[in-house]
Amino acid sequence: MTARCPKCRDVDLESADGRASRLRRCGKCGGTWFPQDEARLEAVAGLLSQDSTIRPASAVDQKTGLCPEGHGILIRAQVEVEDPFHLERCATCHGIWFDKGEWNRLAQSHLLEHLDRLWDPAWRFRFKRTEAEQDRRTRLVKGLSEPIVEMIETLATALREREEPLKGEAIAYLEDQLR
Ligand SMILES: [Zn+2]
Ligand SMILES: [Zn+2]
Repeated sequence: MTARCPKCRDVDLESADGRASRLRRCGKCGGTWFPQDEARLEAVAGLLSQDSTIRPASAVDQKTGLCPEGHGILIRAQVEVEDPFHLERCATCHGIWFDKGEWNRLAQSHLLEHLDRLWDPAWRFRFKRTEAEQDRRTRLVKGLSEPIVEMIETLATALREREEPLKGEAIAYLEDQLR
């Protein structure tokens, strides 16, 4: 059976690793079809990381597509990084389509280990919040230095474990010291 590129539609996918696996690549747009198979994750990582593109072409990213294995429309997940992009996954066979460069962007964001969870809205919400908290910490470190931010965190940890009214008194005391 020929497998069509989900994005180019009229282009047949080629074997991506020259072997009999179902890993396929589009010679036109450079996208890759990654059949859901945990055992091959490392081999795929080696293959796709050779692709040095970081930014996908946004016109390609905006398109949805059909599963190359014939299961109909792919489900998109927005990847909530600094410059968000979409990944597509088949709801039936769980294969994933990477536009050219998307693999490297996931690797940069340490998201490759969470591939399956990207389609879980609750997880995506938690991930986004964590990213926002990390951004805030980075800003504070830039302004205050790492040792001072660590002192604030140590203080917060120590106070979090305390009962009221002691906790409230400690916060009020800190506020007074800042005046
Ligand atoms: Zn293509
Ligand atoms: Zn499929």
